[in-house]
Amino acid sequence: MSISPAEKSDLLRLSATVSQIGASATLAASEKARQLRAQGIDVLDLGPGQPDFDTPESIRNAGIQAIRDGRTRYTPAAGIPELREAVANLYTSREGVSYETDETMIAAGGKQALHNFFMSVLDPGDEVIVPTPYWVSIPEQVKLAGGRPVTVDTDEADGFELRAETIATACTGRTRVIVLNTPSNPSGAVIGGDEMRKLAELALERGILLLVDECYATLVYEGAEHVTPLCVGDQAKDVTVMCGSCSKSYAMTGWRIGYLAGPREIIGACVRLQGHTTSNPASVSQYAALEAMIGDQAPVRDMLATFAERRDRVLPRIRALPGVECVEPKGAFYAFPNVSALFSEQYPSSAELAGYFIDHAHVVTVPGVAFGRDGFLRMSYATSMETLERSLDRLETACSALVAG
Ligand code: PMP
Repeated sequence: MSISPAEKSDLLRLSATVSQIGASATLAASEKARQLRAQGIDVLDLGPGQPDFDTPESIRNAGIQAIRDGRTRYTPAAGIPELREAVANLYTSREGVSYETDETMIAAGGKQALHNFFMSVLDPGDEVIVPTPYWVSIPEQVKLAGGRPVTVDTDEADGFELRAETIATACTGRTRVIVLNTPSNPSGAVIGGDEMRKLAELALERGILLLVDECYATLVYEGAEHVTPLCVGDQAKDVTVMCGSCSKSYAMTGWRIGYLAGPREIIGACVRLQGHTTSNPASVSQYAALEAMIGDQAPVRDMLATFAERRDRVLPRIRALPGVECVEPKGAFYAFPNVSALFSEQYPSSAELAGYFIDHAHVVTVPGVAFGRDGFLRMSYATSMETLERSLDRLETACSALVAG
């Protein structure tokens, strides 16, 4: 006995919630690079959203030691108390606003922490202000949680820095959350103190939550400063949820450790949700993350110095590409050049232009449309200087060919 085609299509239909979620464009770019490499093509990949460094040795050793010590069982769903305490201490000492252990939780990456947050606070129809360019997963996570992403463009002329005034005009009676990603993936913009203070005041005045995605907090270059809404003092704690990650700061993407700090009620809900979905993040990863957070921070400074060197080498070369303009990234490890002058009938969008660069230059970039801004491409400089220089040589030829028509 077999089922009919009609029965089969009914059986395999997907939920309305998941049907509105697109595939991750950044993962798609890496997949394309992998396929070309498998064909023997020398592909240069500017797609990666992760440091090219190994996890520092002391952190790896802490993971190994945790295995040797048999720390391989379930931990509390919220994470091991020592790591939660390290997160509380981070914000207490860095921001001067005191956090208790039960106002923090550990999750399997910043991604899961953000998902827990949106699931815990959004009801159908709640609006979430999502500045563009945004990190690809934010609007999808908002929709998954039943919320409505309301995108607000930041201005390229302002270096993509968020303006509180622009955000204020997008707020309605249904606005529940404003997403602040600083430093930003993909633009590298960092929200300055003045705007951050205004955003904190706006949130306090209107009773809106500020979700601060600071997964790149340690990757801020000279001249810029990492600021959060907590800079206005204790009162901001009621409206602020911080989300951090060990992925980028400590080159720990595969270990999957992220965290939240915020009002006890919201964190408690996130922990309950986690208790029924994934339970604790991997125990071994948590011990490694503990070493990362409380151990020697020299590797963080070294990695930042390397990224800064690459940025300084690469930015002038990107700006010199025919038809390309590029804002200076103040943090993270991405450039987000404006390539709209290269659009043509044949390549009318960032997706098609990225396709042209893959096919003709064998260089992978990520189309800006994935971040809510067609007209741009994301180029990661979390790769060796040699790969960067070779990529730019090829892009130069490819752009020149386009401009020459
Ligand atoms: N936020 C931003 C802005 C990111 O770029 C990423 C990773 N690409 C994350 C959150 C999540 O990272 P992870 O889950 O590895 O902590």
